[in-house]
Amino acid sequence: MKLGIVGLPNVGKSTLFNALTKGKAPSENYPFCTIDPNIGTVIVPDERLKVLQSIYKSKEITPAVVDFVDIAGLVKGASKGEGLGNKFLSHIREVDAIVHIVRCFENPDIIHVDGNVNPERDIDTINTELILSDIETLQKRIEKQEKELRAASDKKVKDRVELLNRLLKHLSDGKMANRFTDDEDEKNIIGELFLLTAKPVIYVGNFSEEDITMDLSGNHFLNKIREIAEKENAEVITVSAGIEAELAQLNEEERVEFLNDMGLKESGLDKLIRASYKLLGLISFYTAGEKESRAWTIVKGSKAPQAAGKIHTDFEKGFIRAEVVSYNDIVSLGSPVAAKEAGRVRLEGKENVVQDDDIIIFRFNV
Ligand code: GDP
Repeated sequence: MKLGIVGLPNVGKSTLFNALTKGKAPSENYPFCTIDPNIGTVIVPDERLKVLQSIYKSKEITPAVVDFVDIAGLVKGASKGEGLGNKFLSHIREVDAIVHIVRCFENPDIIHVDGNVNPERDIDTINTELILSDIETLQKRIEKQEKELRAASDKKVKDRVELLNRLLKHLSDGKMANRFTDDEDEKNIIGELFLLTAKPVIYVGNFSEEDITMDLSGNHFLNKIREIAEKENAEVITVSAGIEAELAQLNEEERVEFLNDMGLKESGLDKLIRASYKLLGLISFYTAGEKESRAWTIVKGSKAPQAAGKIHTDFEKGFIRAEVVSYNDIVSLGSPVAAKEAGRVRLEGKENVVQDDDIIIFRFNV
């Protein structure tokens, strides 16, 4: 999973990115790790792995990871080449979801590019650039399809042109592509365009260290963000990048103490990852044994062979069956042997839908 961090300059993107990626995942375990300084591979916090390690006596724990990309350069006029210009677009195109940081902290020493803190205007500025870029993409596509239509009349192409023109109108009204349709067929066609505004969005309100420890339910900045997010089916979380930066300096024990002292339940990273899993419909399953206890991320609703394919394509191709036990059963029964004796290990075939927290052994044939 890859999440792209966007937002206006001076809203706290780099501060948050640096804090999140400070506890960087060891790159040797993750062959796809890049050395691009704007990409950070972050471990998905997961308490269950430690429990599995002790039950299975695993030598190692290998958590699931998320890549964060710090996408700088998004300013007013960016889609027309202002600031760093169009370079950010290709970065955004590659991510699974957009993490949109919105400044909610007042600080006269830190210049706001538009003079004052105003989440509604800021969100609109960023989203407008994304929409403008999508309009350009779409116009090119429509031109191409219309040319095709002139060459040979085809009902399918004609319908498509009609759909794309409806979408163009929607974007031109200043609305994101992710609000365009609930129709699955239309969604699939639009999916092929790789539009920036078709991606799921998490809005992150970046609050001051003081504000974040208070009850924010009546906060007008937050309410504004929530109002916007609701229309887009987007998620909203609150963080203080300043606090995240401090947390990043601490070890695990100190972090817990620090969060307690501040009256906070969890860190911004935990919130962000939970929100992304929810938004993207992701769940975790596990493999566990003497070598390692490991978490894997899949889309909810995936079947056993697809889950096996996450580990290795051979596992998917040669899939025979999955031996599955649920996390709760393993914990309450105390060992894989006890789980088997209690009849809690299920043999599942190709059609089995993998559940959150399943611990799986795949049987395959290569
Ligand atoms: P970017 O341009 O969006 O990457 O913004 P930066 O992360 O560079 O932050 C701009 C300035 O705002 C820096 O001086 C940060 O220290 C400050 N800043 C960012 N987040 C917070 C925060 O949560 N609290 C406070 N007090 N300052 C922050």
